[in-house]
Amino acid sequence: MTTLEGAKPGPTAMVSALIHGNELCGAIALDRLLSTKFSPDRGRLIVAFANVAAFSRFDAAHPYASRFIDEDMNRLWSRETLNGTRKSTELARARELRQFAESADFLLDIHSTSLPAPAMLLCGSREKGRILAAKMGYPFHVVADIGHTSGVRLRDFGAFNNGASAKSSVLVECGQHFDKNSPTVALKSIVAFLKACGMLDDTPEQFPALPRRRGQKFIEVSHAITIRSDGFAFSREFRCFETIAKAGTRFAQDGTREIVTPYDDCVLVMPARQPLRGQTAVRLGRYVAGGKD
Ligand SMILES: [Zn+2]
Repeated sequence: MTTLEGAKPGPTAMVSALIHGNELCGAIALDRLLSTKFSPDRGRLIVAFANVAAFSRFDAAHPYASRFIDEDMNRLWSRETLNGTRKSTELARARELRQFAESADFLLDIHSTSLPAPAMLLCGSREKGRILAAKMGYPFHVVADIGHTSGVRLRDFGAFNNGASAKSSVLVECGQHFDKNSPTVALKSIVAFLKACGMLDDTPEQFPALPRRRGQKFIEVSHAITIRSDGFAFSREFRCFETIAKAGTRFAQDGTREIVTPYDDCVLVMPARQPLRGQTAVRLGRYVAGGKD
């Protein structure tokens, strides 16, 4: 954990990487940030390398094995779980990170995807998350989602998911875990985030320039399909953002349960690479008008 102080007062922001130990792009981007002696123009930036224990076990021969040690660190962010008596490697670390997350006005949590997918912001279900995503203007895709039934994400922790609080957060998926471009996406996302938070005026010259602003595509998630059986399979290979034209089209089977699209023009968001019982197989959503900027 490192804190970078700006010359002028301003908000407190946190940028976290390695909530999943095999998602390296955020750590590479934050290492670049720290090695260039970066500091924001205003406010305080908390830089967090989250699941360092899992990351330290990273083995290129088994690149998916170091996502976590005991449990998924991005399902632990409810007060009940953090305040509880249960113990795990990830819970111990989450309890250390908690005070920093609570002190932040803004949070950017950096991730990457198992399957190749376009970079996207996950802005949660609140209007304030959409506004933050629209202010960032990058990446191009924004998914307004409802999290996972298996536990609360850091993005949705406490005040970040409270509509009465001004605190706001986004999660960025920077492309596939081992895509050579994903650290660059992570760096651009950090710059876009700090600008949106009012903490940075210009892109530092040692960082990649942001693309020209263009209209983002917002997808509103309506369903997260949780896997109930050991016999889940998609009806064909999906990557991300495929649109299925007709309501009632079967796209997966979960044991004896047929899973069909609930409406026309249904967009599939981040299908799981290895569907496992209890986890999210895919989210379903629709393209909608963007957030207010
Ligand atoms: Zn992740």
